Amino acid sequence: MVSGLHIQYYFVCHRKLWLYAKNIQLEEGHERVQTGKILHERAYKNSEEKELAVDNIKIDAIDGEYVREVKVTSKMTKADKWQLLFYLYELKKRGLNKKGLISYTKEKRTEEVVLTEKDEEELDKIKESIQEIMEQSYPPGVIHSPICTKCAYYDFCYAEEGEE
Ligand code: SF4
Repeated sequence: MVSGLHIQYYFVCHRKLWLYAKNIQLEEGHERVQTGKILHERAYKNSEEKELAVDNIKIDAIDGEYVREVKVTSKMTKADKWQLLFYLYELKKRGLNKKGLISYTKEKRTEEVVLTEKDEEELDKIKESIQEIMEQSYPPGVIHSPICTKCAYYDFCYAEEGEE
């Protein structure tokens, strides 16, 4: 089942998506992941509801008509936006119509995200594409992007390349 993290990884790196889907999970102890967890604990002390986890949805918090997500920086803006749109779409399918807010703590900035019918169509296509990637027998190639140095799979990807 496609989850919010799959959507996030789809926009960051298809190889990362594939590795995660195959249970090669190196994220747990990674510094940025730990930072994110601490951030969530602090950000939602006063929210109406803290984390909501149902099926494939794991939402940071719901505040009235808004689903809230908090991110450290806006470096992954597109991935963050589509992850939140995915949550809004999944909630809508369950009869809950919400809007979204993404807060970027470093920039002290919050963006509103509203789900449209076009987004829903796009999300259906994205989910199909994610399914195809996850079913591949071999991982997609290393992307050679600056984001690789911050990725939990960095050693894994580049050590593997060195052996070729
Ligand atoms: S290190 Fe780079 S290529 Fe490897 S999974 Fe991470 S982002 Fe993708």
